[in-house]
Amino acid sequence: MANIIKTFLLTELLAGMKVTLKNFFARKETIYFPEEKTPQSVRFRGLHAQRRYPNGEERCIACKLCEAVCPAMAINIESEKREDGTRRTTRYDIDLTKCIFCGFCEEACPVDAIVETQIFEYHGEKRGDLYLTKPMLLAIGDRYEEDIAKCKAADAPYR
Ligand code: SF4
Ligand code: SF4
Repeated sequence: MANIIKTFLLTELLAGMKVTLKNFFARKETIYFPEEKTPQSVRFRGLHAQRRYPNGEERCIACKLCEAVCPAMAINIESEKREDGTRRTTRYDIDLTKCIFCGFCEEACPVDAIVETQIFEYHGEKRGDLYLTKPMLLAIGDRYEEDIAKCKAADAPYR
């Protein structure tokens, strides 16, 4: 009986209209991308980069932990010993068409060499465009080191 009365009084319709009316005058949350952007977490996992120390030496010590931990097998590393006895990569490639942006490589790295930056506005028109080589990764790291260091510092107290 209650349902029949509700049906005739159109109470559900009125309840729906109330929600519509409330939201009609509410503040709109539309973001006009790309002019406007939403805030990003310092842990955002975007485009990869390889970092250097302040003296210009590359951080990566070719331990291959990132390659081993990568669930998508997106990282390929080759390495050799230098004359000074240190080990460095001769090849460090990431295939972004395989990468699932899990962040495991960054977590596994003992020297904060491989990182995922805040950059998400990039694209490739063919498969090869998304294949990042060591010079490309280092160039991204060089260009955005200031931002990367800031994010690392902001995140450090929570680790
Ligand atoms: S983010 Fe994940 S999937 Fe991508 S390269 Fe790193 S470990 Fe592999
Ligand atoms: S990026 Fe880090 S984890 Fe990967 S090989 Fe280099 S030092 Fe090891």
